[in-house]
Amino acid sequence: QHGSREVDREVHSVCPYCGVGCQISYQIKDEKIAFVQGRNGYSNENRLCVKGRFGFDYVSNPQRLMKPLIRKPDMPKGVNVDPSNPYTHFREATWEEALDVAASGLSRIADEHGGQAIAGFGSAKCSNEEAYLFQKLIRTRFQSNNIDHCTRLCHASSVAALIEGIGSGAVTATFNEVEHADVIVIIGANPTENHPVAATFFKQAARRGAKLIVIDPRGQALRNYATHMLRFKSGSDVSLLNGIMHAIVEEGLYDVQYVQAHTENFERLKEKLAAYSPESVAPICGIDAETIREVARVFGNADRAMIFWGMGISQHVHGTDNSRCLISLALMCGQVGRPGTGLHPLRGQNNVQGASDAGLIPMFYPDYADVEAEPVYTKFEELWQTPLSKKAGLTVVEIINAANAGTIKAMYIQGENPAMSDPDLDHARAGIAKLEHLVVQDIFLTETAMMADVVLPASAWPEKTGTVTNTNRQVQMGRKALNLPGDTREDLWIIIELAKRLGLPWSYTHPSQVFEEMKRAMPSLDNITWERVDNESSVIYPCPEPDHPGEAVVFGDGFPTKSGRAYLVPADVLPPAEVPDQEYPFVLMTGRQLEHWHTGAMTRRADVLDSLEPGPTASLHPNTLARYDIAPGDLMRVTTRRGSIELTARADMAVQEGTVFIPFAYVEAAANILTNPQLDPYGKIPEFKYCAVRIGPADGE
Ligand code: SF4
Repeated sequence: QHGSREVDREVHSVCPYCGVGCQISYQIKDEKIAFVQGRNGYSNENRLCVKGRFGFDYVSNPQRLMKPLIRKPDMPKGVNVDPSNPYTHFREATWEEALDVAASGLSRIADEHGGQAIAGFGSAKCSNEEAYLFQKLIRTRFQSNNIDHCTRLCHASSVAALIEGIGSGAVTATFNEVEHADVIVIIGANPTENHPVAATFFKQAARRGAKLIVIDPRGQALRNYATHMLRFKSGSDVSLLNGIMHAIVEEGLYDVQYVQAHTENFERLKEKLAAYSPESVAPICGIDAETIREVARVFGNADRAMIFWGMGISQHVHGTDNSRCLISLALMCGQVGRPGTGLHPLRGQNNVQGASDAGLIPMFYPDYADVEAEPVYTKFEELWQTPLSKKAGLTVVEIINAANAGTIKAMYIQGENPAMSDPDLDHARAGIAKLEHLVVQDIFLTETAMMADVVLPASAWPEKTGTVTNTNRQVQMGRKALNLPGDTREDLWIIIELAKRLGLPWSYTHPSQVFEEMKRAMPSLDNITWERVDNESSVIYPCPEPDHPGEAVVFGDGFPTKSGRAYLVPADVLPPAEVPDQEYPFVLMTGRQLEHWHTGAMTRRADVLDSLEPGPTASLHPNTLARYDIAPGDLMRVTTRRGSIELTARADMAVQEGTVFIPFAYVEAAANILTNPQLDPYGKIPEFKYCAVRIGPADGE
């Protein structure tokens, strides 16, 4: 309850949580956010979910870091510090001292071991300008491409498949286009929890009469709107999708003209699909052959169809193959490039699209320019006036492995929390603890910051101005609404000051100057200016004219590939890296839940959200719980080959028998202690959606 709704002023901005990018207005009273309202943005039309409406009091949580911190000598590194009392392990420092120590540590490691011993994790929760400067700092100062962010834990496999197939890693159509679709496929995604306002657009389309095909191992809320609900066996995605495509080919439902005009390699795809009849894949997927054929007919006969997918597709060792299948399915039916058609990986964090576009990836400069391609690196060497590494860098999990191996010796981490978000956490935390020098820039003493040598207290989203890019490719303006508390600083200022101490000749004083430079590096921002985004709050890229709102649908007349055609890549079945056996007989899936955001650093410190979901739970089918004599609400134990956690059992009919679902936001029972670090070979994304576990009562171990 916010008391009086009279406020002193309002400030227009964007929600800091998910990739939907809802436009909001902060209602400010006495220099605090009294409440938040939705604005009439393209992606939210005044709506907000519970996080956007009630998730802002983290900003004034008493655990906010207020002063720079330096680790006391000889303090052991671990996730062992009380975040409300960091002074057991750290002492306060001035900004001068903290920045000097941060910079000199990084410089020393680079001098002694070379720039390849340095790595950086930027953040999808920070602005485009911050992401751009962060990657520029690591690349230009250390000649290292060891720079990545949480896209590697989220849609890296989707992006790898999209770039390979259609030459672009972003969505081909905004989710608003469902308004014009007659068939909508949602696979491996749970939008009601993870993209709640986008889910309202899907529900509206279904009410209007669009056919909604939901394909997911978990029965989820959208099943109530689905014309077809396929609860297939986790991990059998390629078999199922190949089975659907087989039926489309067999029944002649594909778009011959489109395939001939706009694609390559269809014949090889067709050959591959021959082995995947619906009858042969049915027992593998747990979906009967007639249902597979029925879905193939609905999709194949659609006039306008869209495909949406999430982490259920991408977070597998076969995540890139899963995405390749979805791309082939859409393209063989000509379902790209027209209103109401398209491919749309639902991006997770509020700026994971923008951070990726801005070059926060080890194999690409801004706008996905290949770091190993000669004309490309020459262009960036000229733009940045410095020699650059010609070798792609390491990805998130590879960097942590290299820290364990002692080849990565120092890191600069802004706003990411790998000590909670990475797979096989005991291993990940050991690697982070082994670093000789760790600089963490964040707003709380996260589990990663607990292991830092220097902690730089940064700005929360309402305390700074910058652009972010949502799942729809909308570049939007986030505006400063609050003064910085204590001795905190804006993130951009911190990056710039650190860069200066590292010897870089930077003189930026405002994010608009960074945006101007980004435009020189990124053709995708053509016709989009800082002033436009400020005046209009949102402009979609690509944007063909200075007064055009941007293209909601792209690739109507070809693709940005060498041939101008899309390349169809057939996929074979690659089994999950760790399958159930007698010792570990169940399948574990991890993920998010509506009330909590990723590693919980923000939402666990937001009172309303944390009171709605106050502790860690494992969701299982009631029959599975009954078999083990575990009652809902009991404490239970979940164990894998990598570790074991105790948490509360929750009965959930939506979870298939034989599977366990655990959200990864809770430090007191961190789900990633359990997860398997095996990577998809292309996207280098870990298999968060499948590993073998055993369960039992808490006292039964
Ligand atoms: Fe924020 Fe996403 Fe919720 Fe919109 S749907 S209010 S962007 S968390």
